[in-house]
Amino acid sequence: MLSSVNNEYNPIIGINGMHIPDEEDELDIKDKANIHYIGAIQKSGGIPIVLPVLEELNIEIVKKQIEIIDGLLIEGGIDIFPSLYGEEPKPELEKTDIKTDNFIIELINQAKIKKMPILGICKGMQIINIAFGGTLYQDLKYAGLKSDSHRQLGDHRRDYYKHTINVEKNSFLNKIFPNKEKLNVNSYHHQAIKDLGKDLIIDAKSDDGIIEAIHWNNNSQWIFGVQWHPERQVIINDEFMPIFNAFIEQARIYKSNIKK
Ligand code: MN
Repeated sequence: MLSSVNNEYNPIIGINGMHIPDEEDELDIKDKANIHYIGAIQKSGGIPIVLPVLEELNIEIVKKQIEIIDGLLIEGGIDIFPSLYGEEPKPELEKTDIKTDNFIIELINQAKIKKMPILGICKGMQIINIAFGGTLYQDLKYAGLKSDSHRQLGDHRRDYYKHTINVEKNSFLNKIFPNKEKLNVNSYHHQAIKDLGKDLIIDAKSDDGIIEAIHWNNNSQWIFGVQWHPERQVIINDEFMPIFNAFIEQARIYKSNIKK
């Protein structure tokens, strides 16, 4: 864990909050960030702060939230509201929260304007794709797979491997893990990217053809997304720390450029 803090060196990473309704009282809504993202950012030398979903979406306030941070981490969560990519809800669609989704998309838009590094994990990767004009399979059934084919069962620790992914040459993922053509990853999703957003590039696919990592093809900004949960794996070993280290390094570069 980070033992000392140097303001010149440790970038501030904003993690989006998200609305989680209480099971018994759906009006008792909490805004939550998963602790494992906070831990992974700390472990890689970033200073985590949580950006709560605004009660009323206000672009000026989102801009101020983005001004505070040096990097944006979009965390995993519940399903994405399908009208955001032009679809009606299908029967397999699970819980959604349109307020959270609209807020996250505005965070991405504002971070894009500032050329700030963005890391998206699971739903985070999928919503980056939506923000760039892409679409999703509302359920893996619509990709011709079993609905639970990318969902680990068991104790929900999410730190076990579920399937391998094939790393594309010259991708961001390939730069982060040189010499690795395949990676073993966990898997906890029933939605997946269908059509890629504009100028997004596939970094990895599973053997059954599901997009498992993407980046934005733009030299002026680092935007990277993964479909699995590296934050769960870094609890037990450092195998996936290079993802967070690469993100924090980009946030450091962003921070030092902004200061000039
Ligand atoms: Mn998967």
